[in-house]
Amino acid sequence: MKRKIPQEEATDNPTVKKGFWALGLLKTMNDPKYIIKTDDQITMIKDMYPKAQHHFLVLPKQDISSLKAVTVKHLSLLKHMENIARAYVREKFKYSNFNIGYHADASMHRLHLHVISDDMDSEALKTKKHWNTFNTKFFLNSQNVIKSLEDNGKVLLPSPEECKKYLELPLKCHKCSVVPKNMPELKRHISTHHKIV
Ligand code: AMP
Ligand code: ZN
Repeated sequence: MKRKIPQEEATDNPTVKKGFWALGLLKTMNDPKYIIKTDDQITMIKDMYPKAQHHFLVLPKQDISSLKAVTVKHLSLLKHMENIARAYVREKFKYSNFNIGYHADASMHRLHLHVISDDMDSEALKTKKHWNTFNTKFFLNSQNVIKSLEDNGKVLLPSPEECKKYLELPLKCHKCSVVPKNMPELKRHISTHHKIV
């Protein structure tokens, strides 16, 4: 029997050629356990494998596959996504620092804005690649993405070679000059920094 495809999951986008796992966000967007808020344009969800104490994703209901598919016609949507993220962290986490932005080359289908507390303290953060996706130029601040779209009519993205280079950079603490040897050492070190309210 054919499964009924929910509105937000329906896509005829030919770029949906990755593995089935890459469509996981579309499923989570419809799971009340994960939904933080929703309106006519977006759904905000909890990240299923949070890479910090607080980690959320804002996704458009419109089927935009990734930053590569973003054009000027999406400008107000991107601004709305950022406003939703800012309003939520202001309301819920008054004194915490959050980073709000996109991965230059996301692995999951459907454009998603990361909203992540800067403690980077989480069991699910295990690898150097995880670390570097949030703590190098692989992480594109939402405001810069919007500015790039306004200035260029599209989002200027690092090349695949540059992305690879960012993900292979040596580990470095995001709060001080410490250069840990490996992930266990980095995780021990950052626990000395973070103090979430
Ligand atoms: P990226 O595509 O690299 O920008 O990141 C995808 C994000 O989605 C990661 O932070 C994952 O932890 C998260 N994630 C992966 N699968 C799911 C899922 N099924 N539901 C919710 N979040 C997920
Ligand atoms: Zn440090």
